[in-house]
Amino acid sequence: MSTEEQIKLLIETQKLDGRIYTLRKELANQPILIKNLEDEFRQKETTLKTAEEDLKALAVKRREQEGELAAQEEGIKKLQIQLYQLKTNKEYQAMEKEIGGHKADASVLEEGIIKILEEIDAYTKKAAGQKEILQQERQKDAEKKSKIDTRTKEIEGSLQVLNSERAEVAQRIEREFLEKYERILKSKDGVAMVPAQGDACGGCNINLPPQIINEIKLRHELVFCGSCARILYITESD
Ligand SMILES: [Zn+2]
Repeated sequence: MSTEEQIKLLIETQKLDGRIYTLRKELANQPILIKNLEDEFRQKETTLKTAEEDLKALAVKRREQEGELAAQEEGIKKLQIQLYQLKTNKEYQAMEKEIGGHKADASVLEEGIIKILEEIDAYTKKAAGQKEILQQERQKDAEKKSKIDTRTKEIEGSLQVLNSERAEVAQRIEREFLEKYERILKSKDGVAMVPAQGDACGGCNINLPPQIINEIKLRHELVFCGSCARILYITESD
């Protein structure tokens, strides 16, 4: 087989390998897509959990404050009963002052409890909202995952077809040519053969000397780019 024919087969192989490399990269990225979805979901779950924990803490605080308020009110009642048993005006005034102090404390507690109740209301709404978001996300994620799975199967199917096509073409190429090509393919991330674009290398864009252009046109041997080491070719129409 002539070198010219070998080059033609290599170009064909490169076309297949280009698609194979692209698809392999996409395939390798599929598990990352799924992991990203799961990470995002876990983050949202954490937000909901935090809102629920905040609610629990508020409920504890509410019980504490209500207990304190009840104790305070109980104390006030006792003092008011004692108030009527006092003999002197001075004692009476002192006791009234004490009761006033307790009442002030009780009203501070009441205000605090009202604030806590408002907070509980806000956090309850927030948690409910988060829960709804989470449910919607779960559904969306399931759809996204199934799309990813479908695409994965699609890629695997295409790769199978491409690989067998590639094997068929590659077996017709002489070992020496194929080995050179494959070495470059590996080191240049799936692009071993590039067309000359005008008088520049289609791989690295460097200007090619006229002598190299002539050699490519002759197709008597493999011609390599002096800069990126890829195999150069010129399409029939050039
Ligand atoms: Zn180059």
